Amino acid sequence: MNNDIILEVKGLKTYFNTDDGVVKAVDGVSYNLRKGETLGLVGESGSGKSVTNLSVMKLIPSPPGKIMAGTAMMDGENILEKSEAEMRKIRGNKISMIFQDPMTSLNPFLRIATQMIETIVLHKKVDKAAARARAVEMLELVGIPNPAEKINNYPHQFSGGMRQRVMIAMALSCDPEILIADEPTSALDVTIQAQILELIQDLSSRLGTAVMMITHDLGVVAGMCDRVVVMYAGQLVEKGTNVEIFGDPKHPYTQGLIKSVPRLDQPSQERLFSIDGQPPNVIDLPECCPFYPRCDKAMEVCKSKYPPVKALSDEREVRCWLFKEGE
Ligand code: SF4
Repeated sequence: MNNDIILEVKGLKTYFNTDDGVVKAVDGVSYNLRKGETLGLVGESGSGKSVTNLSVMKLIPSPPGKIMAGTAMMDGENILEKSEAEMRKIRGNKISMIFQDPMTSLNPFLRIATQMIETIVLHKKVDKAAARARAVEMLELVGIPNPAEKINNYPHQFSGGMRQRVMIAMALSCDPEILIADEPTSALDVTIQAQILELIQDLSSRLGTAVMMITHDLGVVAGMCDRVVVMYAGQLVEKGTNVEIFGDPKHPYTQGLIKSVPRLDQPSQERLFSIDGQPPNVIDLPECCPFYPRCDKAMEVCKSKYPPVKALSDEREVRCWLFKEGE
């Protein structure tokens, strides 16, 4: 494994058994995350981005969900094979997560101090006084004014943006190697969104934390990610550096996503581009390219054969019949 790689996911498959059939939410996804980088995982709702990361954290409700195959190597060990007790040590200590709505992660009945101190004592094995000092330090780092006093507030006493800052402080308080940010700004006002993204980027470069940014917003990815993984119907369809993906998108789905982003240099009367059709139902997907019904470049082969992943260069992969290996 490359020394810079801190997480290597290979062939991850997570399925859900439902009354209507087997939902192949993640179906053979591979990617790696390097020390200190920001990796963007993009795609429409239902593309499998969140399930991919919940699988790595072993937070998939089972039943109905099940990790069917794959490995997630960290420090030479497959964390998908870890017991729940072992995973509790990894979550927070090595990998932390922040979600769209901080209120789903913060307990509304407990003061911020109680919640942060409990987490730090549990993972860092320090006494309460040291944990409080660390919590105040982290709140200060994320820009909470007067943190020694505000730490005694309840979550409802903070605004949405401040609550997300508290979540970031809590997530980073145990020095994790990886921060998974799942749509961290979707529930916030636009002005606050920019501040939170800037904060994540700034802290990641100061603390050396790798960030996995899960988002449907390509603007967020363009502004802050080093590399990008594009997902569709539970599969990886394109992977590359930020410059490659935005400068020369290969997969027709990536091209459509980029075209659908509003641009300031576009005439305001012009209609925004949208990709025709809907993402497919991932129950019983036929053996063809899942993007075929929506693709304006589809060929005969796309209707009957599932395209394999092709490596175009060291960093670049695309799953489309339009490309050959190394092209
Ligand atoms: Fe379009 Fe065919 Fe490529 Fe699928 S494999 S994205 S249908 S060209």
